[in-house]
Amino acid sequence: MEYRTVPRSGQKVSVIGLGMGSIHAADAREVEETVRLALDAGVNLFDFIPSEAAPFEGYARALKGQRDRALMQVHIGADYSSGKYGWTTDAALAISQFEERLRTLGTDYADFGFIHCIDEDADFDQVMNGGIWDYACRMKKEGVIRHLAFSTHDVGVARRFLATGAMDWGMFSLNPLYDYTDASDYGKGEADDRARLYREFEAAGVGISVMKAFAGGQLLDAAASPFGRALTKAQCIQYALDKPGVASVLPGVRGKQDLLDVLAYFDATAEERDYSVLGEFAPPAAEGSCVYCNHCQPCPRGIQIGLANKYYDLARLGDALAADHYRELEHHAGDCVQCGHCDTRCPFGVKQGARMREIAAYFGR
Ligand code: SF4
Ligand code: SF4
Repeated sequence: MEYRTVPRSGQKVSVIGLGMGSIHAADAREVEETVRLALDAGVNLFDFIPSEAAPFEGYARALKGQRDRALMQVHIGADYSSGKYGWTTDAALAISQFEERLRTLGTDYADFGFIHCIDEDADFDQVMNGGIWDYACRMKKEGVIRHLAFSTHDVGVARRFLATGAMDWGMFSLNPLYDYTDASDYGKGEADDRARLYREFEAAGVGISVMKAFAGGQLLDAAASPFGRALTKAQCIQYALDKPGVASVLPGVRGKQDLLDVLAYFDATAEERDYSVLGEFAPPAAEGSCVYCNHCQPCPRGIQIGLANKYYDLARLGDALAADHYRELEHHAGDCVQCGHCDTRCPFGVKQGARMREIAAYFGR
């Protein structure tokens, strides 16, 4: 397992976490075994939004006595009072359900306490003024919530949460289908603006926990994907992990085999993870913008082209840490000899020769 750091707390999170979206398909024993398998593989981040309430007890049994190995994402606004998933901004219901979830899971705190799934401005206003926000902030002060978090599919709402300055963590739907097409209601917005949002997460020190990394399976199926080509799970995971701000990807699994398929990411070669094929079928919106995929390597001057570009984009947003990271690189944009190798390799049509001059001028090296 590999781990990344929650920027505001230093907490280590596994780069692959466990989503619950499809686990209701498994029986109680399979649920328990899946959670144990995840823990044994070093997964320490668990999300708790299943389609039905039934799997909660299997999770609780598997996590009993393991509380210190699991970081729990628990949501305020998910309502399982009917036995199935429901959504609410009613503060009394949201709060009682959140507290019941903690009890069911056998814990008295949430590592990540989420204001759950807010996609509309009116719902954001309701959360802020209707009691949920005050409750979440109070729970953070009392230590019941260790990190204050939000989940959304909407770029504008994500920005409103970031603007509070109070957020530690955000769950966002992120994959190439949502970034480059409007084919899903979960992924509206221009590619450039979505890319800017990820940089804003990083600059604000708010880690991204990725949901829907496979677009609900659409990206894995050539017939269902608007690109007409299938990507693999390893490619989708790498795509998400390369985005600024991303700390962990949480695919929903149906059981042990799905989990093993996801964990196979760690055995995949660099070629198998390489998603630069996207450059062949992503729309013109993707053209000319570096997505940090590193397909253009190797650079004869040893420049880490993807990283240099990522740090440059972040530094221009005011991220002082990114500027430091750039300076710590062994080779800098000023080392570029304009050989053109990267330009011939880049499937996104980025002109790195010119870009390297721009980066060198910005950083003065
Ligand atoms: S220049 Fe192109 S190939 Fe290189 S990292 Fe950027 S997008 Fe990827
Ligand atoms: S053009 Fe510059 S950055 Fe690109 S491969 Fe050549 S030396 Fe490296």
